Amino acid sequence: MRYHEPLFRPPSEAQSFILQATLGCSWNHCTYCSMYQDKAYRVRPLAELLEDLRTAGASARDDVKHVFVADGDPLGMPMDHWLPILGALAEAFPRLRRVSTYATARNLLEKTPHELRQLRERGLSLLYIGPESGDDVTLRALAKGSDAAGHVEAARRAREAGMEQSLMFLLGAGGRARSEVHARASGRLASAMDPRFLSTLTLTVVPGSPLARQEAQGAFQLPDVAGLLQELAWFVAETHLTGGIFRSNHASNYLPIGGRLPRDRAAILEAIGEAQAGHTPLRPEWLRGL
Ligand code: SF4
Repeated sequence: MRYHEPLFRPPSEAQSFILQATLGCSWNHCTYCSMYQDKAYRVRPLAELLEDLRTAGASARDDVKHVFVADGDPLGMPMDHWLPILGALAEAFPRLRRVSTYATARNLLEKTPHELRQLRERGLSLLYIGPESGDDVTLRALAKGSDAAGHVEAARRAREAGMEQSLMFLLGAGGRARSEVHARASGRLASAMDPRFLSTLTLTVVPGSPLARQEAQGAFQLPDVAGLLQELAWFVAETHLTGGIFRSNHASNYLPIGGRLPRDRAAILEAIGEAQAGHTPLRPEWLRGL
């Protein structure tokens, strides 16, 4: 396989075969993101991808059950790339059970319902989406490219096509100024999108990012640890999923917790309360990661 660094994938895809079908992110405007700052967006040539898959199939034919398609927002790839790629994946890996990828609400809304159904029928079954916030003011400040209503519609289309979603929200993304509004609205958006998997991450202001410049100018202030724990409690209090699983075990978080919402809400809020009272050790700074 040919890989072009940097290469990112969700923690849950650590064991998956990674197919880097696009390079960079077609949007690349989010103010907190520096992942693809130095990588111009492009779709890799189809012939090159198919050749990589034939090579991978020859060496790992029966070993691959999960495939993650990278980089930043590959769902935006044209159908004349997606369909042959999904066909080649099925051929290369007969034991394949899941194909997943990163997607934005914009990517989803740009595809027709028929196209999304075609992708699902050919094997694309899980989308990782990072709305980050349910608060439209925060979403505009982050330059996310879609508002809360757009995310709800995108999720509806994914669900109707039979695709599962794994959603990520960012604690701290509203800054101190919009902390509670951001956290509660994020819980409400998570409920409306109703994913199979839901997680919170904690915002890290990355040096060199537009958000770091805003912070330096005093236009953005990240809540402190107590503020971030409170955001987690507000988020959990607002979230109602049909059957999805919530986790905050990402390395960026101070308190790893999880469960089903609303079923486990009381226990989760109690665990957050214990942490707020100083009775539960938090993940130390040196163990936290992006
Ligand atoms: S859509 Fe994702 S990869 Fe692209 S700029 Fe935003 S956060 Fe970064």
